[in-house]
Amino acid sequence: MPEYIPSIGMEVHAELTTRSKMFCRCPVAFGGEPNTRVCPVCLGLPGALPVPNRAAIEMVLRTALALNCTIAMDSIFHRKNYFYPDLPKGYQVTQYGETNPLGYKGWLDIPVRKGELKRINIRRVHLEEDTGKLMHLPAGGSGVDYNRAGVPLMEIVTDFPPDIVNADEARAYLVELRNVLLYLGVCDGKMEEGSLRCEPNISIRHEGSQEFGTKTELKNLNSFRSVQLGVQFEIRRQAATLDQGKRVMQETRGWNEGTESSFVMRTKETEQDYRYFPDPDLVPMKFDESTLVALKDSIPELPLAKMRRYEKELGLSEKDAAVLTADKDWASFFEEAVGLGGDPKQVCNWMNSDFAKHLNESGLTARESKIAPGHLVDLTRLISKGEISGKIGKELFAEMFQSGRLPTEILKESGKTQISDRDSILPAVEKVLSENSSVATKYRSGQTGAIGFLVGQVMRQMAGRANPSIVQELLREKLDES
Ligand code: ZN
Ligand code: MN
Repeated sequence: MPEYIPSIGMEVHAELTTRSKMFCRCPVAFGGEPNTRVCPVCLGLPGALPVPNRAAIEMVLRTALALNCTIAMDSIFHRKNYFYPDLPKGYQVTQYGETNPLGYKGWLDIPVRKGELKRINIRRVHLEEDTGKLMHLPAGGSGVDYNRAGVPLMEIVTDFPPDIVNADEARAYLVELRNVLLYLGVCDGKMEEGSLRCEPNISIRHEGSQEFGTKTELKNLNSFRSVQLGVQFEIRRQAATLDQGKRVMQETRGWNEGTESSFVMRTKETEQDYRYFPDPDLVPMKFDESTLVALKDSIPELPLAKMRRYEKELGLSEKDAAVLTADKDWASFFEEAVGLGGDPKQVCNWMNSDFAKHLNESGLTARESKIAPGHLVDLTRLISKGEISGKIGKELFAEMFQSGRLPTEILKESGKTQISDRDSILPAVEKVLSENSSVATKYRSGQTGAIGFLVGQVMRQMAGRANPSIVQELLREKLDES
């Protein structure tokens, strides 16, 4: 069996979160009645003139800067000509060329193995407009919805030769890139709604060969899972094709979610077919240094940097830091709690266990829930001061998740405070020892692990309210003295 080396290029389209479209004032939104957000400009009616959306240009520039790109200080829009019913003008406004895209020659570091990063080079970050959507009508036939036509679209393409060599890396790249876009606030990242679309291209070559194989492009991937499965499938399919002595055809393939396999959509157009030329209706863009400095300053701390800071400055494990930073709002909730004086490790533990579990069950986000960062600070303080046990903490958490009341308040009323007074615990210790003399004997004969059972029994006697370390201390004293 010959060995193959895969090469994967990633082309990502991200709809920008602007309020209006790229060249007109039609609002940007998802769904709704077809063709209700259209005007002469985005319908391409004769005589209508486009005006570029400044917010969209700034979003792409900020993304390009965050992805370490060189910025094209002079940049223009081109027309990409082709016919398809979802493209009313007969051309798509986009940016052609190697150094004309708003950003080019950048990179994104992605986590590949525990503690290890891989640099994925990026070829271009450019601005274009989205097309409309073909719809298959229930009564038969097709219709077109132009609500999406002209929505600002950012395209991010990895460099050639590709750095990504397997399906796991393809997925990790997309996860990291999506997270960066969410941190920047330039895209809502909803793959299932099509606001983030990924089209990987895949080729394989014989081990030792310098020449890249023929590539295929995959479309209709609307989740991380389908990206990973799709890339895996294509690698296997191409290997099987070559093993049979056949050639891989250059084609665009669709992904069938149900059968988890790809199918031919069309053979690939070549670049010349599009007849790119500068759009005569759009004036060239020019940027100065001070604009770029201001945009750069507006870039927030990005996920990877945040993760490293949590590890270094707050002493969190890589896994904890990764879970917290995987979601911008989750990270900001955590930081607010720490800012209020919460212990980072304790706050993190509650967030990634009970809080995450309750949110998951209720379908709420952290900000939609009744828990504020202060609740977690209050709860972790009660525990570290020894006023309640971890077990009572869990009960309090469930209660505050329901009511939104502060743990100290709930505690005052319920009388669930932890008992740390030795004299109040001693009777229960003595009772448990007299009822479990065989376990006590085990302990004395050297099986010190038996103490765990005794602690559990005392805690039960005291309805979970005793301070477990005092219980343990008292048990040891009693067991050692007799
Ligand atoms: Zn419009
Ligand atoms: Mn594109």
